[in-house]
Amino acid sequence: QPIIEIDRVDKRYRSRKAESVHALRDVSLSIEDGEFVSIVGPSGCGKSTLLKIINGLERHSGGVLRFRTGAEDPRQAMGMVFQQPLLLPWRTILDNVLLPRDLGGRRGRDADVERAKTLLRTLRLGDFMDRHPKELSGGMQQRVGIARALMHDPPILLMDEPFGALDAMTRDQMSLELLQIWERDRKTVVFVTHSISEAVLLSDRVVVMSSRPGRIVSVVEVGLPRPRS
Ligand code: ADP
Ligand code: ADP
Repeated sequence: QPIIEIDRVDKRYRSRKAESVHALRDVSLSIEDGEFVSIVGPSGCGKSTLLKIINGLERHSGGVLRFRTGAEDPRQAMGMVFQQPLLLPWRTILDNVLLPRDLGGRRGRDADVERAKTLLRTLRLGDFMDRHPKELSGGMQQRVGIARALMHDPPILLMDEPFGALDAMTRDQMSLELLQIWERDRKTVVFVTHSISEAVLLSDRVVVMSSRPGRIVSVVEVGLPRPRS
């Protein structure tokens, strides 16, 4: 059974000044529990819009979304990683990872602090927990963003060009780390990227979108053995 079912979804961005933008047309996609799906396509084809509709940051204009996450609010079953990690500069790395908990009004839970520390160690940031974001490299900051997204152990991880701002070597390394997390936890991952090679390396399926007219034009089952991490 699919954990996410996107059924004939349409999206128009309306604007008073400009013409409305028809960003998604008739997009249908079923994502199985534990699947790693990449979405590729040229800039402006609607990849970010699709992710934002899945996580509720944008409303769709037509069609239906169904979630089978077991959570009352499906959005609580999702973690989101952006191209920029959006860390708070005045908070330590540990406190940045604990931010969602603090925003939820849960302070001082030892178990949360232990979980954050374990995640940071897994992501090889154990020695940097008390540092501040500006003391870390771009790749390290992005790993903090991933730790923060994993903090509430969501079954679904949504990633929008998570490695887009990183140099090629860091990208490759982080791709392998992401695979490790995926293999260990079997999360459902929806991964937006400009890089076809990254998509093929990581995914079960590659969804190809086209900007005219904001549609899925092809879905490719990869079926390659993944590199063992
Ligand atoms: P990307 O291709 O990596 O998504 P963009 O530069 O296209 O980056 O967009 C960056 C952000 O700005 C996106 O999150 C998108 O929602 C928003 N955006 C893109 N185009 C417009 C627009 N015409 N008007 C308002 N916001 C936009
Ligand atoms: P991608 O992520 O593939 O680059 P986006 O989803 O960011 O594509 O954008 C799809 C289309 O919707 C683009 O034409 C973009 O300019 C437009 N768009 C995105 N966000 C907005 C927005 N907030 N307002 C108006 N147009 C937008």
